[in-house]
Amino acid sequence: MSAPSGTSPHTHAVIGAGPTGLAAARNLAKRGLPWTGYELAPGVGGLWDISGPRSTVYDSAHLISSRTTTEFTEFPMAPGVADYPSHRELLRYFNDFADHFGLRDGFRFGTLVTAVVPEGEDWLVTSTGPDGTSRTERHASVLVANGTLSEPAVPDLPGSFDGELFHTSAYKRAEVFAGKRVLIIGAGNSGCDIAVDAVHHAASVDISVRRGYYFVPKYLFGRPSDTLNQGKPLPARIKQAIDTRVLKLFTGDPVRFGFPKPDYKIYESHPVVNSLVLHHVGHGDIRVRPDIGRLDGDGVVFADGERAGYDVVVLATGYHLHYPFLDPALIDWAGPGTGTAPDLYLNIFPSSAPGLFVLGMIEASGIGWQGRYEQAELVAGYLAARADRPERARAFEEQVRGPRPDLSGGYHYLGLERMSYYVNKDAYRGAVRAATESLEAPQ
Ligand SMILES: Cc1cc2nc3c(=O)[nH]c(=O)nc-3n(C[C@H](O)[C@H](O)[C@H](O)COP(=O)(O)OP(=O)(O)OC[C@H]3O[C@@H](n4cnc5c(N)ncnc54)[C@H](O)[C@@H]3O)c2cc1C
Repeated sequence: MSAPSGTSPHTHAVIGAGPTGLAAARNLAKRGLPWTGYELAPGVGGLWDISGPRSTVYDSAHLISSRTTTEFTEFPMAPGVADYPSHRELLRYFNDFADHFGLRDGFRFGTLVTAVVPEGEDWLVTSTGPDGTSRTERHASVLVANGTLSEPAVPDLPGSFDGELFHTSAYKRAEVFAGKRVLIIGAGNSGCDIAVDAVHHAASVDISVRRGYYFVPKYLFGRPSDTLNQGKPLPARIKQAIDTRVLKLFTGDPVRFGFPKPDYKIYESHPVVNSLVLHHVGHGDIRVRPDIGRLDGDGVVFADGERAGYDVVVLATGYHLHYPFLDPALIDWAGPGTGTAPDLYLNIFPSSAPGLFVLGMIEASGIGWQGRYEQAELVAGYLAARADRPERARAFEEQVRGPRPDLSGGYHYLGLERMSYYVNKDAYRGAVRAATESLEAPQ
């Protein structure tokens, strides 16, 4: 990073008005930094607006992390809101957040960002507005908050299927399954939610899995399970041992229900927060199948050679990170790991593109919107330091060019695409807060 002046007369650009983009706008505004927001959808809320063009929630979607561990600390949800609110409630929450902090007017809605290019110390942002007109504007910096769960990862399955085949990103309502033989491929959080939805409409529901999973119930001891154990984080090995035992006591052994035994420890992959799927497997409403061998006309042949007929196949196969408006070199895309995520300091700062920040590119159990808010707080703190305390900002830029801190919390994450930008919430939030404090410390 070269030493940026921080004195550009232009506004900072925020791309996206989902939870992360709103947090970005709020933190810039809090610091008195001028900003301009670009949002493709007609309003705020990101993927929680089911009608939004990039939304991947479905009618039955609720939070899987509980309200108090997910909300913005400075803007708690109303006390009457459920522990696990629906997408409708969350959309209301984000609208209230935007109005409460006066953020709405700063966004240009119906506006798609198509290119972000550095020029000198500034950034040129090209966008297409609701009337189809393209324009390019100069900004002092760009905060990218375009989401991580909108670009479907569609596997190249051998063979062909004559029925209906779609990715979870295209799924909205369970009525599509009425009277049909349904196969869900993948048992992540969306796959399990959709399998449970399908039970109430379909003629039959199968779920094909490649590996074993840990199923965490939403409630333990009558309380949202993620609100237990909120004190000082336990060492990884101890937490894994305790929680594996607790899960065995509460949900039993998924192997008894026909799932493969996980060949990894709990929290080494994103846990599935769903006990209904086990309930329905136990009732014979959902049948567990092995990995796919090939699509086969009006059915599927599984890896064990068995064949079954289906009318609908749902690909619950996850999402790719997607920054189509950025030159991949700008965000060090070919970094370490599986090469499926950019190599960014604290998952935010590219080493060689001062003034460009990626927000929300974190996957973690329990990081919530507050975790994303703290990312925005750090970026706003850095931008303020560029103008007020250039020494501090330069010291931080040195850090960005240096070694990456360990954000794993001692967990050995699986080498899967969706785990390539995974962090441990405590390790991550601690590192982000420490960085923010280092920018604030007296010179
Ligand atoms: C079914 C489901 C359940 C989930 N449950 C939880 C949960 O329980 N807890 C939790 O913390 N997270 C959960 N998530 C994760 C969810 O991604 C986050 O809660 C949150 O929405 C991330 O916010 P974001 O602003 O980063 O991204 P998004 O909400 O995806 O918002 C990104 C915004 O950027 C806009 N945009 C994208 N590209 C452009 C462009 N080129 N130009 C202009 N605008 C653009 C989009 O229109 C969108 O409005 C869930 C996700 C899904 C799909």
